[in-house]
Amino acid sequence: MGRLSLWIKACIAAASLVLTGASTLQNPTYDVLILHGTVVDGSGSAPVANDIAIKGGRIAAIGRFAGAAAAEVVDAAGLMVAPGFIDVHTHADDIADAPRAENFVRMGITSVVAGNCGGSALDIAEAFTKIRRGGISINYATLIGHNTVRRAVMGTANRPATVAELTKMKSLVWRAMADGAVGFSTGLQYVPGTYADGPEILELARVAGNAGGVYASHMRNEGTKLEEAVEETIRVGETAMCRVQISHLKVDSPLRWGASTRALALIDAARARGVDVQADQYAYTAASSTLGIRFPSWVLEGGQDSIAQRLNDPGTWSRIKKEMRDLLVERGLSDLAFAVVASYSADPSLNGLSMKQVAQKVRGADSLDDQFEAARTMMLHGGASMVYHLMSDDDVERIMRHPQVGVASDSSVLLFGDGMPHPRGYGNNARVLGEYVRTRHLMPIQEAVRKMTSLPAQHFQFERRGLLKTGYAADVTVFNAATVGDAATFEKPHAYAAGIPYVLVNGVVVVRKGEHTGALPGQVLANAVTK
Ligand SMILES: [Zn+2]
Repeated sequence: MGRLSLWIKACIAAASLVLTGASTLQNPTYDVLILHGTVVDGSGSAPVANDIAIKGGRIAAIGRFAGAAAAEVVDAAGLMVAPGFIDVHTHADDIADAPRAENFVRMGITSVVAGNCGGSALDIAEAFTKIRRGGISINYATLIGHNTVRRAVMGTANRPATVAELTKMKSLVWRAMADGAVGFSTGLQYVPGTYADGPEILELARVAGNAGGVYASHMRNEGTKLEEAVEETIRVGETAMCRVQISHLKVDSPLRWGASTRALALIDAARARGVDVQADQYAYTAASSTLGIRFPSWVLEGGQDSIAQRLNDPGTWSRIKKEMRDLLVERGLSDLAFAVVASYSADPSLNGLSMKQVAQKVRGADSLDDQFEAARTMMLHGGASMVYHLMSDDDVERIMRHPQVGVASDSSVLLFGDGMPHPRGYGNNARVLGEYVRTRHLMPIQEAVRKMTSLPAQHFQFERRGLLKTGYAADVTVFNAATVGDAATFEKPHAYAAGIPYVLVNGVVVVRKGEHTGALPGQVLANAVTK
């Protein structure tokens, strides 16, 4: 035996001595202990001082555990301990490409639902396989999108579906549900969903409902015809017998500000007759969407070539401009100053400018006609994503106070520093807790936490999630009620939320002392029927 191997043997002996000496940590009773915190359990009950013990990805016990052995102890003195937040309205469809989902988890979100506004993966099984193979930091569920299914069967045709086409679409929705989608989503302001009639949506929602899924809708109208749109959405749930989620409820036309009172009354009336309808909301007075949504929907049929043909034909273009002007007047608007460019890849120097400023910059004049001409040029160069300042504080607050309205970001997985996204993608939950709970006293903290946890968990039937309760999944968000808040703004959107030092997903620490640990403990949450 040489000197080197003797030395190695000695090292192994020393190492095993050290391990024996630390036997309490070799087989600790718990994986994680969260000590000395104030527990807001997600049910809406008042906060209570308590400790949380976690083992095997689940909450093992809630009580007093000072002195118990654990692989990691989180000192939550002075902090709130809540269930991980559940964001049921996201566009996190490409999470496999950005698996750390840092913008979500750093604002306390531990589960997301993707596939909203009618857009999702078409092959849900394939999407789940890709996610499971690479791993993700947070839990992931998806809806199957109507626009995705309709586009696969009918392209962007502007007409009702034939019986054969509807049958094909139904089979695609059925397959997605069998593969684990948690419901069916529509985006009725977008192409091609906007061309669908009521019976088509009803039939497809019924397929999802029969498999235990929810019907989630970005409605046909969110302003001038808000009440009709809410009624249409509720009617689908009532007839197809499925739970209903009204997505990003808002009033997006100044002439209709205040209409949230009537929209919420419709929800209350439907619930009173047994329709299980809820809504979600992001906590901002500006929306985020495409530039195309400002154009009449018939202009967008058939893809970029057909759009360009219409915009380049002088007669058609003047007709389009007239309709665009009418659409503005209908909403109580006189120009496009409310519309701010978020991301325009053909000329990023326009990012952050309103369409009025864009017109001034590219045409040297900012009349309404110049604004329309600038918008036309941008559409001819592939369009842009936009931020629209169209809502009132009163409506946002009234909607937020309603007990059946949850908190959801409407965000994608964001890459830090990339583009000019809506700040809700970094700040939404933190903004509710900081701005609306702490500063404006809109509701008690336990009510805000309930809206972020048990309310969506129960509606989307995420079993044993959404509450801090023994046996439940250990998705936990630890935040400082005195400092939690959003740092992202429309001007500087890339800023992580503040005051959220710890986030655990399935019992694994993903955020520690405010930093992402790189852990990927997230799971795919498939619908209860297929599990
Ligand atoms: Zn939407």
